[in-house]
Amino acid sequence: MERKTILILGGGIGGQVAANALACRLSGRHRIVLVDKHGDFDLSLSFPWLIVGKRTPRDIQRPLGTLLGKGVELVQAEIQRIDPAKREVETSVGPMSFDYLIISLGAELAPEKVPGFQEAALSLYTLEGSVGIQKSLEAFSGGKVVVLISSSPFKCPAAPYEAAFLIRDFLDRRGKSAEVSVFTPESFPMPTAGPKVGEALKTMLEAKGVRFYPNHKVTRIEPDGKTLVFENGKSETCDLLIGVPAHQAPRAVRESGLTNETGWIPVDRGTLTTGDEGVYAIGDVASIPIAGGKALPKAGVFAHGQAEVVATNILAHLEGRGPGARFDGNGWCAIETGGGAAAFGSGDFYAEGGPAVSLHEPSRFWHVGKVLFEKWWLSPLGPKRAALRAVLNLGAKVKGIAVSL
Ligand SMILES: Cc1cc2nc3c(=O)[nH]c(=O)nc-3n(C[C@H](O)[C@H](O)[C@H](O)COP(=O)(O)OP(=O)(O)OC[C@H]3O[C@@H](n4cnc5c(N)ncnc54)[C@H](O)[C@@H]3O)c2cc1C
Repeated sequence: MERKTILILGGGIGGQVAANALACRLSGRHRIVLVDKHGDFDLSLSFPWLIVGKRTPRDIQRPLGTLLGKGVELVQAEIQRIDPAKREVETSVGPMSFDYLIISLGAELAPEKVPGFQEAALSLYTLEGSVGIQKSLEAFSGGKVVVLISSSPFKCPAAPYEAAFLIRDFLDRRGKSAEVSVFTPESFPMPTAGPKVGEALKTMLEAKGVRFYPNHKVTRIEPDGKTLVFENGKSETCDLLIGVPAHQAPRAVRESGLTNETGWIPVDRGTLTTGDEGVYAIGDVASIPIAGGKALPKAGVFAHGQAEVVATNILAHLEGRGPGARFDGNGWCAIETGGGAAAFGSGDFYAEGGPAVSLHEPSRFWHVGKVLFEKWWLSPLGPKRAALRAVLNLGAKVKGIAVSL
């Protein structure tokens, strides 16, 4: 059989899972090439722990190569243009051709979209920003802490709330007199998970003493770096500003004309195929409409599930079979609430009447589960993850939880 090239753009969550799932099953029969501009991978789900000193950058960063299975060729390069018609990708180290293409380039942060944000806010969404938050919290003597969500969509709809819970917990333990608030353009937390989950999270925030300000879309931050101005005419001051920057599709994706009016790549919600044969888009860079005029949230758990589906279907195609796997819209998320506890949400985001998601009360169990997941992800197991996942799924079934890792 002719040796084909499967080119994977992006070595984040989706790219790693796709590469390892393919490497595990192809045993060198076809080329798997993964391109990323960074040599290291940062596990962003651990940033909320980093900001309160529970992790160091070393704990949550790995050389990307150590997370990839045997048989994956890693190329460190910047992707500049994608040409599905020519079956070619331009990169900083030259052009690359492909038979199959998996675009998993994630979301690009665009802090410059809110005037003053870059100068005033510490970003929760980068390793450097999270280190800065940790230092500022250590030195914080009291006052107002604001977690500011610039705009939707943003990755991991739970992350800013998780950060607020952990900051509240951190400052309480140090006896600091502080007000912790979340300002967001959303009408309730995690709207893509439905109003019930939103209400439950709001109640949890209130119970922990975190103030919640919905329907607050920031328009600018004044040059004093402390005054936030909102579209609704209100303004607010703060002493420490922690921000979720605006998101957009990476430049190479936008400039290659692959996006639609959403600004992201439209795909079939089951197979993740784009309009071009053998070209798939997964994870944060993809746009998938769901019921209620919303879009599937941008989260690692979806990038992960979609990567598995795409790997399975590419394998089927290579073997002359039709696509058998479909992504079902199921996802889960453990939300740290402080004090060594986490809440847990899981459910079907493709449900016809709108996301059917349930939220379990915070407990130690979910916190430990999240820590184990982190360790599992960062261990150099490569393709063995698939086997481990089967064991964890079995554990979840025994516990009676509808979750697919
Ligand atoms: C603070 C925080 C907490 C989070 N917590 C969770 C959580 O608990 N659960 C969860 O499910 N999700 C969580 N997420 C979201 C999750 O990290 C993302 O949804 C996930 O990483 C998306 O995977 P992806 O493969 O689509 O993109 P990414 O993982 O972002 O990977 C994209 C890759 O593409 C590379 N790239 C981009 N542009 C180029 C280019 N031009 N050339 C070369 N390489 C390029 C990048 O370097 C990157 O490695 C969190 C995110 C943040 C920021």
